[in-house]
Amino acid sequence: MANEYAFGNPEIIQEEVDILIIGGGMAACGCAVEIMRWAEGTNLKIKLVDKAALSRSGAVAQGLSAINTYCGENDPADYVRYVRNDLMGIIREDLVYDVGRHVDDSVHLFEEWGLPIWKQPGDEDKKLKDGGKPVRSGRWQIMINGESYKWIVAEAAKKALGMENIQERVFIVRLVTDKNDPNRVAGAAGFSVREHKLYIYKFKCCLLACGGAVNVFRPRSVGEGTGRAWYPVWNAGSTYAMAAECGAEMTMMENRFVPARFKDGYGPVGAWFLLFKAKVMNGLGEDYNAANAAELKDTKRFGKYGQGVPGTCLRNHLMIKEMREGRGPIFMDTPTALAKLAENMTPKEIKHLEAEAWEDFLDMTIAQCGIWAGENIEPDKKPSEIMPTEPYLLGSHAGCAGIWVSGPTDLPGTPKEWSWGYNRMSTVKGLFTAGDGVGASGHKFSSGSFTEGRIAAKSMVKFALDNKDWKPELSRTVDELVEEIYRPVRTFLQYKDYTTAIDVNPHYITPKMLQFRLQKIMDEYVGGVSTWYQTNAKMLEVAEAKLEMLKEDSLKMRAKDLHELLRAWENYHRIIAAECHMKHIQFREETRYPGYYYRTDFNYVDDENWKCFVNSRYDRETKKWTLKKVPYVQLIKD
Ligand code: FAD
Repeated sequence: MANEYAFGNPEIIQEEVDILIIGGGMAACGCAVEIMRWAEGTNLKIKLVDKAALSRSGAVAQGLSAINTYCGENDPADYVRYVRNDLMGIIREDLVYDVGRHVDDSVHLFEEWGLPIWKQPGDEDKKLKDGGKPVRSGRWQIMINGESYKWIVAEAAKKALGMENIQERVFIVRLVTDKNDPNRVAGAAGFSVREHKLYIYKFKCCLLACGGAVNVFRPRSVGEGTGRAWYPVWNAGSTYAMAAECGAEMTMMENRFVPARFKDGYGPVGAWFLLFKAKVMNGLGEDYNAANAAELKDTKRFGKYGQGVPGTCLRNHLMIKEMREGRGPIFMDTPTALAKLAENMTPKEIKHLEAEAWEDFLDMTIAQCGIWAGENIEPDKKPSEIMPTEPYLLGSHAGCAGIWVSGPTDLPGTPKEWSWGYNRMSTVKGLFTAGDGVGASGHKFSSGSFTEGRIAAKSMVKFALDNKDWKPELSRTVDELVEEIYRPVRTFLQYKDYTTAIDVNPHYITPKMLQFRLQKIMDEYVGGVSTWYQTNAKMLEVAEAKLEMLKEDSLKMRAKDLHELLRAWENYHRIIAAECHMKHIQFREETRYPGYYYRTDFNYVDDENWKCFVNSRYDRETKKWTLKKVPYVQLIKD
């Protein structure tokens, strides 16, 4: 009888390329499109690997209804000011400016490739690059019919690279350093999530662009809704974990994003706030933002950051305050907004407006339509609940966790320490990143992440050509890598008959159970939803000990099939990302982001001591983190 678990010995495929693009999201696609322009005629061998299928992978999988970064008539310096304000004063202004000055060109490409971008009346047939005026939902955002956004962008990437150079459904587990230089990356190893194959790549350099981290914290969704999260569940912190384990310096990993979204479906609120001009109210029907305006003026608590337009975290703070003080739930007043808009409209125009409201969800968060339909919510008649979600780690949306990278060389005033090598290269030689990977430069969104991939592409080609004669040699043997990556499978095969209940076994833990443990620790001790995002030194000390044990136990995860092998390694990446997040919060003795998290023992913004970056390094041998302050430098004046 065939053994149903005969998958302990995968086929091993080894390949050498010049450049490996790891990930297939917006940044990776930007890289793929751009890289072929610079690599033409060079004979460089370039490959892209994605754990999923390029057409629908990453955060844009379902589509989007707005491109959130398009400068147009705005000065990129103003873009830097906006990002700085939203991220409470600490960003790498060189990196942000670099995205701002190039991002429009990427959006013009999207339109060229067929993405429908809304235009103002009279400009419908004019392209953006020919002066067509977009419909803006905010100063930086433009509206699109974006259900097929990722499909369109992926098609361009596929055409540029050629499908023969794209490997889908391969999950990269770890980067491997060079045998002769521990601070240089030389390869990566992963496995197919569909076939019993293990892949080992060698390369001169790579782009690590696997998105941010979701499901690190216990989600609000429970039971059959557990799979529902704001951020795509398939981005599991691989970028941060693999970079950290390879020795790259991380930055601002204390930062997180807590989106306030339509409750349970996580539907987007941007179009409602910005396009439909809807207001939020507390459970008593009060405009709590107006009622609490004085709260943010307290400079002892919020520094100077509550004086002007409050950033995203401070707006969250007001919402959380209402709920904690018993004036929840919070509602988006959709009926009033729609009624106001309809004042000067014909019935046909009103119908169209309502359709737009539904389409906003259908374009990017279909589940929210399910909630509205299931709960009999007609937005013109009934307000909808808004809720701050569980925290997410990311570097491209309204957050700035990530990797410390070298920036552009041409911006006046940039410290030389910010530009040590090739643009978007980390502190590890040959390891580049973009999108959610680049730290201290949030608010890039889809277009900015794509742009950053393009920036990295150009530098990587230069790097590969400058190192043409260098031969990568891996610091680990193939056997070691196979042993490590397939450990969960072998653990399962060795012990599965020890008990009669397959999920209960003293020798292993299922990935699902381990994930619950991680989420519980992070939720209860590192400022998740159950403590209203609060933590303190003692709670972090407990978290530290528990995470250390969890890391040990993670070596006992089992994988009874390839699906579980994927889940096991996703969890491992989550743990490293989580630990990094926790260590940064522990190190930064202030509350830099009220509304994202609170250090109750230092519950104020402390510009005097903490207006600086926090950077960390992980030592894979000792399993210890070292952290330091890095001076912040303002390049663009207020
Ligand atoms: P992603 O696009 O998420 O790509 C990550 C890629 O890595 C995926 O292809 C994934 O399959 C792959 N991957 C992950 N792990 C591995 C691994 N171990 N091995 C191999 N491959 C791996 N932007 C806007 O402009 N407008 C919006 O309205 C907007 N709304 C958003 C709503 C949500 C819910 C989210 C999450 C994001 C939104 N964004 C929006 C932001 C935008 O989607 C991101 O900024 C952008 O996708 C980040 O690009 P990235 O390449 O870094 O990551």
